[in-house]
Amino acid sequence: MKAVVTSLGSRSVLVHADGLGEIRCSLRGHLWETSEEETRPLAVGDRVSLSPDLTHGEDQCLEGVIEDVAPRRNRIARAPAGSRGAPGKRDPTKRGPGGGSAGRRPDQESGGRSRHTAAGKVQVIAANIDQILVVAALHSPPFRPGLVDRFLVAAAAEEIDVLLILNKVDLANHDDERSVVEPFQQAGYSVIQTSTVTGEGIEELATAMASGIHLLVGHSGTGKSSLLNAVAPTLNLTTSEVTAHHGRGRHTTTHVSLLPLPAGGWVIDSPGIREWVLEGVSPALLARLYPGFGEIPHECHYGDCLHRDEPQCALRQAVEEGLYPKDRYACYLRVLADLQGS
Ligand code: GDP
Ligand code: ZN
Repeated sequence: MKAVVTSLGSRSVLVHADGLGEIRCSLRGHLWETSEEETRPLAVGDRVSLSPDLTHGEDQCLEGVIEDVAPRRNRIARAPAGSRGAPGKRDPTKRGPGGGSAGRRPDQESGGRSRHTAAGKVQVIAANIDQILVVAALHSPPFRPGLVDRFLVAAAAEEIDVLLILNKVDLANHDDERSVVEPFQQAGYSVIQTSTVTGEGIEELATAMASGIHLLVGHSGTGKSSLLNAVAPTLNLTTSEVTAHHGRGRHTTTHVSLLPLPAGGWVIDSPGIREWVLEGVSPALLARLYPGFGEIPHECHYGDCLHRDEPQCALRQAVEEGLYPKDRYACYLRVLADLQGS
């Protein structure tokens, strides 16, 4: 029987099987031995095969044994403590050896998500994600392009589809909205503008989440919990306002779970994702996957060009020629400087 992992406890794993619902499982012994790289043998979103136990547990929950785990399409992992960059990441745009006439800068950085930096084990937060929804507010908190860019780069590095959600449109005027949205649309991203106050865009969002596994990321206070509550009122997630008031709630825990949406999809609820982005994006990765860079053909002299002050940088040339917006390039330079700690 096939199922998807929805929650991990210290002793057992909850999975969901179509037609049967929730099943509490133990793991076959060999599954505990497999991973030298990860802290746990399973993650939320893993597809598993299991043998159901025909007797019910004490609390009437169905029980079973997980026999095997399918290979993952992608994963979101937190780097081991003390290291930079989540290990084991693929870089879809990395040029292979001998690709083009690319040279190497003397101070070239071999970083990026593909480098395994530490002996420690990684914590996989979630696996097999179909879509990352990057949530940003147009106001309150103010729109922070740099953070959004990092989320987009992190998603691209894992080859996960992205949808950009611009929330709180009720607080923005039309011109502000357009100036924020257009560069992302021009860079090829789908954008949905939403408001949990007026209901604008909520149906569109619900449709976009109707199948597959989704992950909402974004700066705190942008409205992620409010949007999920609007799409799936039965989830009844705690919003920041309520959390602050009671001083506790779902978002103060580190637990990760997969929650079912009424329309059929799943959503991952995790407060640990922000760290994934802040740890995982290196300058080299940013230079290759920054929104819109892939849309303009460029072949810089150095294959690992950071498009900053390197000679014969084709991307800078494209900016000069008006093929890439100057303000977006300026934003890129700010994020890059930020990542380099300068
Ligand atoms: P999270 O930290 O991203 O989960 O954000 P929350 O969902 O907790 O929302 C943060 C605050 O923004 C709360 O006070 C919400 O009521 C408010 N909020 C959420 N969505 C909207 C919106 O579309 N418009 C306005 N004006 N406020 C919103
Ligand atoms: Zn360049």
